[in-house]
Amino acid sequence: MKTIVMKFGGTSVADAESVKNVINIVKNERRNKLVVVSAIARATTALETIARNSSLGNEIEAYEILEEIINRHYKMTEELVYNNSLKTEAIEKMKLYKSQIEMLIKGLSIIRELSLRTLDAFRVFGELMSSTVIYFAFKESGIDTELIDSRDIIKTNNDFSRAYPDFAKTELNVISKVKPLIDSGKVVLAQGFIASTEDGISTTMGRESSDFSAAIYGSLLDAEEIQIWTDVDGVLTSDPGLISGTLKLNEISFAEMEELSFFGAKVLHRNSVKPAREKNIPLRILNSKNTASSGTRVISELNYHEKVKSITYKKNVIVLKLTPRADLNQYIFWEMMLNILSRHKPQIDILLSSSSGILIVIAENAYTRIHYDELRNEFSEISSCEIIKDKVLITIVGSELNSIEGFFQRIFVSCPHLKPESLCFGFNRHSLSILVDTGVFEETIKNLHREFFTYDDSGLFERIKKQEERLIA
Ligand code: ADP
Ligand code: ASP
Ligand code: MG
Repeated sequence: MKTIVMKFGGTSVADAESVKNVINIVKNERRNKLVVVSAIARATTALETIARNSSLGNEIEAYEILEEIINRHYKMTEELVYNNSLKTEAIEKMKLYKSQIEMLIKGLSIIRELSLRTLDAFRVFGELMSSTVIYFAFKESGIDTELIDSRDIIKTNNDFSRAYPDFAKTELNVISKVKPLIDSGKVVLAQGFIASTEDGISTTMGRESSDFSAAIYGSLLDAEEIQIWTDVDGVLTSDPGLISGTLKLNEISFAEMEELSFFGAKVLHRNSVKPAREKNIPLRILNSKNTASSGTRVISELNYHEKVKSITYKKNVIVLKLTPRADLNQYIFWEMMLNILSRHKPQIDILLSSSSGILIVIAENAYTRIHYDELRNEFSEISSCEIIKDKVLITIVGSELNSIEGFFQRIFVSCPHLKPESLCFGFNRHSLSILVDTGVFEETIKNLHREFFTYDDSGLFERIKKQEERLIA
């Protein structure tokens, strides 16, 4: 029988009610399955705060936050697990995790450091705890399930906080440890986000990367489908938190989705498309609170041509403008520039080169922060270096954007105040990124959304039913 992977994000497992939905969804799926779960909503951020407080010596605050988070898990266990022996087992495991976190708090408040490796040591507990509650809830509801520890399966490099998997080593583990369980008919439950190095040191693969974990498992299991269950009906024409009247896409191609997630759409982690695309495994984005919606299928075919599909954005990007020293040979400059960049490892979103200089757009990330003063110092050897903060990168994603009739005219007429710092097509014309000032960002993205999504009869988009409409329907 074919296998599918079902991933449930933080809001889909936020409380007992949500987990009950998950149980129903899993029970209604007849195919063999591996279920990937995130930490309960806000738990990872809470663990990061605990780590930061501990490293500053604020033990009391750290324990308070820990108490709160553990209590949320205890409460969920109480509400989901009635069988006394299962409940005792669940609580015992949770207590063990609590005492391990307490030891970390103590240790950190003594040594007062906070490396990315140490942060990962804290972060993994979010998924370890949520998967424990969900495992016992599955058992309580009669699901024949087996809990695995993703750290025993997914092996990564030691680039802590954004570790990257070694697919070959991971595949060996998936084949020897996971596949037999699935083949025996068990619902295998695994944590997203967490992994470990070859020597077993805990790593995480970047915030929001449980989607990526699902794609890794899906790809290595040759799954029939990878389902990403979240809190919206699917991939939308923009971020619904910012834009009202967003529409749901019925489908989107791998190539377009890759651009959309790369340039900031939170609905799918940026690394998730590649493993699915390589094996041609469709991804499906679904709403765990609205199972009536068909969601969005992410597939290899591109069926809707010359079309804007969605508009995304990334806030707080950093722009580096390098003007090479006049006496430096071009190739020596490039070599030295790449050396500097690879030492600092910024996450580069765009790199543009022209005769007079280089423009690099870097995504800022609170926990893999780049030391810009050091970067500027190093660049000063080979170029002048201007660092501009607080820009926003708006990206229009779709198919054959360059062939859309009047495309640029529509952008500039709908956004009369737009003065982009830079404007550039993605490699395959599936995206156009516009670098703008923070001040005009909201107006710009709203105008663009109105311009490109008000009238459409292609059948690609679906209006999202509001909760009240759903209840009446
Ligand atoms: P999960 O916890 O399930 O991983 P996330 O919060 O990471 O969920 O991702 C889902 C959220 O992504 C939605 O609630 C929505 O606010 C946001 N989002 C941003 N851009 C888009 C988009 N283009 N389509 C759908 N959702 C989007
Ligand atoms: N729990 C992790 C986070 O909040 C991973 C995820 O939810 O995808 O970033
Ligand atoms: Mg997510």
